[in-house]
Amino acid sequence: MSRYTKEKILDLDRRHLWHPFTQMKDYEDRDPPVIVAAKGLQLQTIEGQLLYDTISSWWVNLHGHNHPELNEALIEQLHRLDHVNFSGFTHREAVEVVDRLRGFLPQELCRFFYSDNGSTAVEVALKMAFQFWQNQGFKEKTRFIFLENAYHGDTMGAVSVGGIDLFHRLYRPLTFFSYKTRAPYCLRCPDKPAEGFTLDAPLPDCSLTCLEALEGILKEKAVEICAIIVEPRLLAAGGMIVYPKEYLKGLWELARKYDVLVIFDEVATGFGRTGTMFAMEQVGVVPDIVCLAKGLTGGYLPLSLTVATEEIFQAFYDDYLAGKTFFHGHSYTANPLACAVAIANLKLFAKERPLEKGEPVRLHFQRQLRRLFGEEPYVGDIRYLGYVGAIELVADRATQKAFPVEARVGFKIYMESLKEGLVLRPLGDVIYWFLPLCVTVSEIDEILEKSRGVIRRVIHGLGGI
Ligand code: PMP
Repeated sequence: MSRYTKEKILDLDRRHLWHPFTQMKDYEDRDPPVIVAAKGLQLQTIEGQLLYDTISSWWVNLHGHNHPELNEALIEQLHRLDHVNFSGFTHREAVEVVDRLRGFLPQELCRFFYSDNGSTAVEVALKMAFQFWQNQGFKEKTRFIFLENAYHGDTMGAVSVGGIDLFHRLYRPLTFFSYKTRAPYCLRCPDKPAEGFTLDAPLPDCSLTCLEALEGILKEKAVEICAIIVEPRLLAAGGMIVYPKEYLKGLWELARKYDVLVIFDEVATGFGRTGTMFAMEQVGVVPDIVCLAKGLTGGYLPLSLTVATEEIFQAFYDDYLAGKTFFHGHSYTANPLACAVAIANLKLFAKERPLEKGEPVRLHFQRQLRRLFGEEPYVGDIRYLGYVGAIELVADRATQKAFPVEARVGFKIYMESLKEGLVLRPLGDVIYWFLPLCVTVSEIDEILEKSRGVIRRVIHGLGGI
């Protein structure tokens, strides 16, 4: 029997730990669940309660928890090589990940730089894009363009290109200046098209004024811009904002027209989450750099990759004395344990073809979202793409008026969901499901039915509706 009883864990946690993205006072008089095990879609608390991990443990878990093949790969690797620095050494595990991944990526993306989380994959991409131009003598190209509502991580470079005021505003004095362009946030678009607009269909009346805004910046500032960074098809932490393919295509074309690089941040969207291996496939354009993390190891261990074209790589290849080396690296770069799980993850994609098999499940998920939430008076918008679904809660559907911040609707729903055996962790007042690829039709039904019950209860408890 461990001396770490539930009471002791909670007591030590309360006295010494500091959790991410958490107002710690919220836990002064409530306990966070203590998780002791996980299997498939469910987490198990110390009291034996099961919770549906509907957010894939912050968007990392892909094939369910405690997967036998991923477990096996990790255990096997442990007996061979734990870790070695990746500067001046190489190993089979790092090479095999890349060899297998190349089969899933466009051929142009052929140079792979390892780091160990999504934020560092973005930092690497930003530094690469900047130095690409510097190494070739374009000294004035020093700025980036990012989207409103974008989220690329919490390190300072990533925060500099972050577009969520709540998270990023405070740190502006510390970050480097970047240009913010309007998000393709259709629900809140100032030039919203006529009725009948759907995300699935080509936009009948939409003239993509959000792209005009981007071109406005490029027209004036292209000489000083090194790259545009964007999350393809889905602004994830910004509120699971699914946006039209036409926008991404247009952004890419504008980048080409004005001679700036394009960085796709596929940290959240990568590895099948949007229904294709990578979201960029849905648009058929290839960026100069792509960032991968989260699902790379199926949700087991931290590992990331920044993948660039040969052209980018070549700008760094030669001339140490001229300072062309890419001076970047982390202690745990290409950790062999993480690589071994990444290999097992990629093998599962090749062997089980979850994306091909999962199409009926994804369609069912989307149908159920519409069926269960389409008529709810508090739902302002329903968005979905692949295994990601979201509803935006509003106080008034006719005007799309938001709930007051002090009502803390999202937080209350989160707390209530835990009692019901669900993890509904909101983004503001957006409730979302970010499901693993192994989810079944019956799990979807149970999760969504329970979710609706929780949301209704909380909203009715507010007394407003
Ligand atoms: N980019 C995107 C699009 C993300 O969603 C995230 C994490 N939510 C990150 C970067 C940062 O990844 P990490 O949390 O691993 O640093």
